[in-house]
Amino acid sequence: MRAHVNVRQTAMFKTLTLGRLVGIRVGVDVSWIGVFAFVTFSIATSLSGLPPAATYAVATACALFLFASVVAHELAHALVARRFGVRTRSITLFLFGGVATLESEPPSPRAEVWIALAGPAMSAALGACAFGLLALFERTLTGVGGDVIATLTAYLALANGMLALFNLIPAFPMDGGRVLRAAIWRARRSRAAATGAASIVSLILAAALVVAGCVTAIGVHLWQCAWYVAIGAFLAIQGWRQLREARLLERLERDGELGPAERAA
Ligand SMILES: [Zn+2]
Repeated sequence: MRAHVNVRQTAMFKTLTLGRLVGIRVGVDVSWIGVFAFVTFSIATSLSGLPPAATYAVATACALFLFASVVAHELAHALVARRFGVRTRSITLFLFGGVATLESEPPSPRAEVWIALAGPAMSAALGACAFGLLALFERTLTGVGGDVIATLTAYLALANGMLALFNLIPAFPMDGGRVLRAAIWRARRSRAAATGAASIVSLILAAALVVAGCVTAIGVHLWQCAWYVAIGAFLAIQGWRQLREARLLERLERDGELGPAERAA
């Protein structure tokens, strides 16, 4: 996922800085600390056949790999954005994953598509590498050490595959939604109109996710699906904000109050 600098964005995160990668600040929102503990605990309860200390060590390593994978995904967005002259202010891990905060919007629909697809491409590549390593290690390594490495690589392959697929859902501002916006932007020659249309699609998908999550959680007592309700609600809030901003920009475009550079973008 990516976002652009604005007041709400800055207020949204209480970030702890971890360091800098290729000149970009990498940090974690305080909400991430709880997620890290929850993910580690969930992975530990799904592992079997290891002593308790080893179980938690493997689960912690899996969780660290997961979050490193999210940073790699966001870094791919940032590096391709840089190629198109758009700087990235920061990469932040938060409750629902990662976000690369760009300092401006992509300059063209083509740039938008390349920047949006860079993240899922990185996740797919990492997932394929992990899957290849898993196939290799399964043949060559045995014993507890082999089991641990197989668990880590299998988790990495699965997590990156999910990251690639989930982010391609066409719900703006997720990556798939940005590709959709770029296509509408190109067709209608207005970024604001494209943002409005993509936000409406995003709101519909978010509502579907909330309803599907509620039905599964309550109907089948699969309470983990409540997570999808939370993601759907988050996407709905983001979609609503983007829609309101897009409508305002469209009005300014119509009234001729935007400069040529803003309109050309
Ligand atoms: Zn992404």
